[in-house]
Amino acid sequence: MTTVKERALFLDRDGVINVNLPDHVRSWEQFEFERGSLDALARVGATDYRVIVITNQSGIGRGLMSHETVNEIHTRMTAEIRHVGGRVDEVYYCPHSSQDNCTCRKPAPEMLLRGRDRYQLDVGASYLVGDWVDDVLAARAAGVKPLLVRTGRGDRAIAEMLTREIPAPEIFENLAAAVEWILAHERAPQGTRREAQET
Ligand SMILES: [Zn+2]
Repeated sequence: MTTVKERALFLDRDGVINVNLPDHVRSWEQFEFERGSLDALARVGATDYRVIVITNQSGIGRGLMSHETVNEIHTRMTAEIRHVGGRVDEVYYCPHSSQDNCTCRKPAPEMLLRGRDRYQLDVGASYLVGDWVDDVLAARAAGVKPLLVRTGRGDRAIAEMLTREIPAPEIFENLAAAVEWILAHERAPQGTRREAQET
């Protein structure tokens, strides 16, 4: 009996889904979708990919915003995405600052692994789209394929990876281009429903 596994598209938030701000997106009023990201999320909504947002929100740990505010942003973001036919299955955020030495802040893979365990994901058939080095490192540590976008801090990330001699992942103009590539190159998860029926 083959175990049925799912696949996921993990998404960083700031600089990927929405425009990154240098001093944190602190309210829904400051939240602006990146160009083309809503259309891209609508396309993913028509597939069987789980959509899991994983985001470092150290502004909470630094006292700049509350859990309530961040949750409200995510509720409203999810509603906008649903409105165009997209889906967000889960949002995981790390509220800690880098000084907190927590286990969840990216580049740690913990938030991805939470998604893996909750949704029985085949990480080898899953992707993460991010705009920073820590997204790439977290994805690799979880066995997920990273894609880097040039929106947000993406261009700085490319330079940073060169300096630190971190192998560069596939690079795309923005989330829309990354999603287009994923849908053209997708691999079926291990133990797909069809296989399960045949055995
Ligand atoms: Zn954390």
